[in-house]
Amino acid sequence: MRSAHRPIVVSNRLPYVIQRDGERYQALPGSGGLIAALLPVLRGMGGAWIGWSGMAGEDPGVQQALDEAGDGLFSMHAIALSQEEVDQFYHGFANEIIWPLFHDLASLCNFVPAYWQSYLQVNRRYARAVADQAGGESFVWVHDYQLMHVGAELRRLGHTGPVAYFLHIPFPSIDLFLQLPWRRAIVRALADYDLLGFQTLRDRRNFLQCLQALIPEAAVSGRGQVVDVRIGERRLRVGHFPIGIDYAGVAGAAASEPVAERVRELHKLLPDRTLILGIDRLDYTKGIPLRLHAFRNALERYPELRAKVTLIQVVVPSREPIPSYHDLRLQIEQIIGRINGEFTAPGNWVPIHYVFRSLDHLDLSAYYRAAGIALVTPLKDGMNLVAKEYCAASIEEDCVLILSEFAGAAAQLRGGALLVNPYDIEGMADAIVRAVRMERPERLRRMRKMRRDTQRRDVFWWVDSFLKAAELPVAPNGIGNGSASTSVLGDQRAGGAF
Ligand code: UDP
Repeated sequence: MRSAHRPIVVSNRLPYVIQRDGERYQALPGSGGLIAALLPVLRGMGGAWIGWSGMAGEDPGVQQALDEAGDGLFSMHAIALSQEEVDQFYHGFANEIIWPLFHDLASLCNFVPAYWQSYLQVNRRYARAVADQAGGESFVWVHDYQLMHVGAELRRLGHTGPVAYFLHIPFPSIDLFLQLPWRRAIVRALADYDLLGFQTLRDRRNFLQCLQALIPEAAVSGRGQVVDVRIGERRLRVGHFPIGIDYAGVAGAAASEPVAERVRELHKLLPDRTLILGIDRLDYTKGIPLRLHAFRNALERYPELRAKVTLIQVVVPSREPIPSYHDLRLQIEQIIGRINGEFTAPGNWVPIHYVFRSLDHLDLSAYYRAAGIALVTPLKDGMNLVAKEYCAASIEEDCVLILSEFAGAAAQLRGGALLVNPYDIEGMADAIVRAVRMERPERLRRMRKMRRDTQRRDVFWWVDSFLKAAELPVAPNGIGNGSASTSVLGDQRAGGAF
């Protein structure tokens, strides 16, 4: 199905996961709020999703599996990446340069010039795939830091329809951004979009400062969620749109009987204590070592916590080919070993239960619901969905979120969470003891506030407000008239795709 208005979503990965079974490939639906919110829009409009399958090399079996898995309401198109491109574009430019720099960790950047060429080459390939699928008026929505140049390349190919971009990670302050050898090219490429979305006001402010420093003729006007930028004849809009989660899906899953059963089992295994939960992808931005030091500091300075709290730290494997990730895993395991060696009371209490694997949805919901305290302390994070999922899954509302002030989510959840500086070990330890001692009425009041806000600004609200800001011409099925969430997305809310 192809129309002039066909919407196209472009992201590093496709919404379906490819699995290989001998010579055959199978495409299975992926999960997550973004997919739950965007697929209904594409289905309603006969749109397309363009992304990488996650496998190196080119094999027609991948596209065939995607075609077979689809429902005919939208299409998926796989971008092929060679092993060298996976190394240089994905692990290299995206994850060894942009990721650390944009998370304020410039010392971890590996500024290899060849990475940049690979980044441009792959972004061009994405743009060509978009051009093949787009109609003249197609709304193209590009996602995230791997694809900053797709819009500019698409313009070069002659696309005239609206092109928007959302950055899911933070945008750094000007002093850091200026360290990037390709700073001017990147800012110019971003300025080629019609709408740019950031997670927080701080990210937007950082971007506008860099824009005005590197393109002095850029004039910013207006106020509120979205501002106008003029660069000569060109006009673009720049806004902040804090991404949400599929609140109803997460809360619904947490309320299910199998999850309740798993929660009872957990409490039976670890009775008479407060469970403190950390769930993070293996990533140096998540602040796991400092959090563990804070937990140890709390046990040392507040002996009342011993045998009364247990930290469940889940680490989900990620980006293991990059040496700094491998080293981080060893570091985490060493610290946990040391703390458990120091404080374990055999037969009675082990301070930290460590899980190094991906959880299934049942276990994830059960951990969220069972934990009396969540410790979400990234050094820097675009949003941090774990913080919001914890609130949504806490259906009893009797629990506490300790949240880094450098997570995007802090801007929304500051009224309910205990905010901490993730570099302040004693401050985090004090927050842990404060959370343990907090009285039930205060716990309820804080958690209710955060749940209300997470519910109101869920991922469907996010898609809706972004599409509204894109100022699309009104098209069938509601896209562009500000009612996407009630018309196209309405069915999906009830389904709960968590
Ligand atoms: N998550 C997951 N498997 C797990 C644990 C967590 O898929 O075993 C999900 C979690 O539900 C959340 C996401 O991973 O939606 C993590 O998102 P977040 O924004 O917190 O961090 P990111 O990993 O994107 O940096």
